Amino acid sequence: MNKDTINKVVLVTGASRGIGAATAKLLAKRGYRVAINYVKNADAATDVANEIKQNGGMCDTFCADVTNENAVTHLFDNIEANLGKVNYLVNNAGILFKQSTLSDISLERFLNTVNGNLTSTFLCAKEFIKRCPSDGAIVNVSSGASQSGAPFEYVDYAAAKGAVDSLTRGLALEVAERGIRVNAIRPGLIYTDIHSDGGEPTRVDRLKEKIPLKRGGQPIEVANSIAYLLSDDASFITGKILDVTGGI
Ligand code: NAD
Repeated sequence: MNKDTINKVVLVTGASRGIGAATAKLLAKRGYRVAINYVKNADAATDVANEIKQNGGMCDTFCADVTNENAVTHLFDNIEANLGKVNYLVNNAGILFKQSTLSDISLERFLNTVNGNLTSTFLCAKEFIKRCPSDGAIVNVSSGASQSGAPFEYVDYAAAKGAVDSLTRGLALEVAERGIRVNAIRPGLIYTDIHSDGGEPTRVDRLKEKIPLKRGGQPIEVANSIAYLLSDDASFITGKILDVTGGI
């Protein structure tokens, strides 16, 4: 356990399942107090919290839609009141709609995609840097799609994640003098339920031959990289984006 992280509070958005849940569990094992944010499926968030507590970790669950500015302010207020000031932030919440070409993407879907992946990151990062005195760190969860553009599938999602990459670089330079580090990771194809939401539960298996390591990734493999970038092991790294893609 890293003594730098003991009792430090980390907010993981969208942590009731998938990469967020794996990250919350891992960070709790490393000694952080974990704020598990969720927007739906309170039972799943409670399951994550129970598992952490059974293993001796500290955490609490917090319901909030992180695309809503007031909800984000209340989220940080609630975490401060229950766990303490937020020292670390993992902007993990994200959404993916069904595969489609650009011409078939409605404006409504486009704006929802931008809100779910970019606005959420912007709002939580803004609230975090307003309240975090110094020394904190942010990890934003982007996507390998930001590099490929995801043609014929999700150009809206790829564009929103590309903006997350830009926001990461710009914000890192804005807050560097305060000792706050801002990095991002770009997962490749990871086995989570986001692919079911995107209309293709078997997408990772269909595409795994295109991955140099010839397999999809597990949520814990992404969580390991997030934990590294948050930690003091990455104390001289900021404004960088790490591909966790099995070589793509
Ligand atoms: P997931 O769908 O299991 O997890 C996303 C979580 O975010 C869900 O629990 C969802 O309820 C939550 N969420 C969505 N909108 C929210 C909101 N407004 N407020 C609060 N919570 C909200 O999928 P995942 O694969 O674990 O995705 C985690 C992150 O990784 C996402 O940002 C996703 O874009 C990114 N990602 C995933 C993959 C992959 O292959 N699984 C690849 C690249 C990037």
